[in-house]
Amino acid sequence: MILIVDDKPENIFAIRSILSQHNFPSDTALSGEEALKKVLKNSYALIILDVQMPGMDGFEVAETISGYSKSKDIPIIFLSAVNTDKKYIAKGYSSGGIDYISKPIDPDIFLLKVKTFYTLYEQKRQLNEMQASLLAEIEFRKKAQDEVNDLALEFKSILESIPQIAFTTKADGHIEYNNSRWFEYSTSEIEFPVAHPDDADIKNALQQTIKRGQPLEMEVRIKKLADEDYRYHLLKVLPVKENGEIVKWVGTFTDIEDQKQAIKKKDEFISIASHELKTPLTSIKGYIQLLQHLLDGNENAARQYIDRTLIQVEKLNILIADLLDISKIESGKLKYNMKNFDLEGMLGNAVEIIQQTYPDYTIEREGGAARQVYGDEIRLEQVIINFLSNAVKYSPDARKVTVLVTEQGGETKVSVKDSGIGISKKDQQHIFNKFYRAEKSEHHIQGLGIGLYICAEILRRHNFGFGVESEPGKGSEFYFTMPTGNSAR
Ligand code: ADP
Repeated sequence: MILIVDDKPENIFAIRSILSQHNFPSDTALSGEEALKKVLKNSYALIILDVQMPGMDGFEVAETISGYSKSKDIPIIFLSAVNTDKKYIAKGYSSGGIDYISKPIDPDIFLLKVKTFYTLYEQKRQLNEMQASLLAEIEFRKKAQDEVNDLALEFKSILESIPQIAFTTKADGHIEYNNSRWFEYSTSEIEFPVAHPDDADIKNALQQTIKRGQPLEMEVRIKKLADEDYRYHLLKVLPVKENGEIVKWVGTFTDIEDQKQAIKKKDEFISIASHELKTPLTSIKGYIQLLQHLLDGNENAARQYIDRTLIQVEKLNILIADLLDISKIESGKLKYNMKNFDLEGMLGNAVEIIQQTYPDYTIEREGGAARQVYGDEIRLEQVIINFLSNAVKYSPDARKVTVLVTEQGGETKVSVKDSGIGISKKDQQHIFNKFYRAEKSEHHIQGLGIGLYICAEILRRHNFGFGVESEPGKGSEFYFTMPTGNSAR
């Protein structure tokens, strides 16, 4: 928009019509004062200013305009009838574009000047806009960068404050950051701590992990620089993803040496304690059996007490044997004597032992099992005895337990069924874990939670399937399965 300032309406009219013929939109003011008001209110690309006006003359108007920051850059064309003092004009309006035209106006020259100023103004306006948006963009990027830097700093101070050794690697596994604990185990920023020669190589393990794109978790002994001792650590490495792509890995080594030592000591203690308990118990059992033989037929009461003592001694014996087995499993020393044996004979034995121990219960055998099985007979009998004694123990209100053999789909399934308290679905998932006990307090049934763990270990070593089906309040079925062809090796 072009502002025309002249006190004579006929002059304004003449100029306006030239401008509108060439599609320049215009606005008008009939005095300097009105012009100043309009300049403050609107945006103009050019002002055409009559010099001689009553009140404020053109120069005064120009000088005032040059004082407003909003308008100081608007170019002005002065219309003058008298000889204009250019210096004066330039002084009054130094920062904007300035020109003058004398009256009467030559339309061609006038238009030429208007066009030049108009284009200049447009270009300048566009440049200003561009500069403003560039500045905004720079500001935005700076802020984003600052935020990223702040986050990285926060992340590093977190890694610095944790008790673990921490590090990050690039997507390809090259180490790019380590916290200060790293240097208790490594002399170099880019080399992993030295692993024990018997443990897996850390670098290799990490490379495998990167290939698979999966998190890494492994136990490894690493050498402490101060005393050259190897300490067990749990190494965990997790991927960091951006837009679904792995961009880096974050890893920690957690010192688990003390835990490992404590577990070792506990296992050693259990092993020693159960050995120590077993020796006197065996003697007690022997002496009671001798006593049994010494009694003649008339000493019925004494015989009854001796029988009961023997049952309790046998229970103690089984408990201690279980504890011993656990420590053997932990140290990998549980031995297996694998050969062919008669399944029916083994099941009969187990049923007899439990029947003797729990004369109030009926232990039934269902389904044929006239077949040979390859495995450790004593250990598999131990599994059945365990299933059976649990079936009795966890059936306080029932009196019948069944041992069942079925053949289906090339598999032989041996199961022990009871109508006892049953096990919830949630507990069934953990029932074979070490020390897990599902028994709710209302039943007050005692136990150590190791029997099923030992059974699971034995069955895993045989490569047999196993599991439980149960419904709380209705009963449970514990079973193991083997291929029907499993025999005669
Ligand atoms: P323990 O009987 O010494 O606690 P086990 O390892 O033999 O240890 O059994 C683990 C848990 O499984 C038991 O605590 C019990 O809650 C549950 N359980 C095992 N057998 C049965 C069963 N036949 N009926 C119900 N619960 C059972």
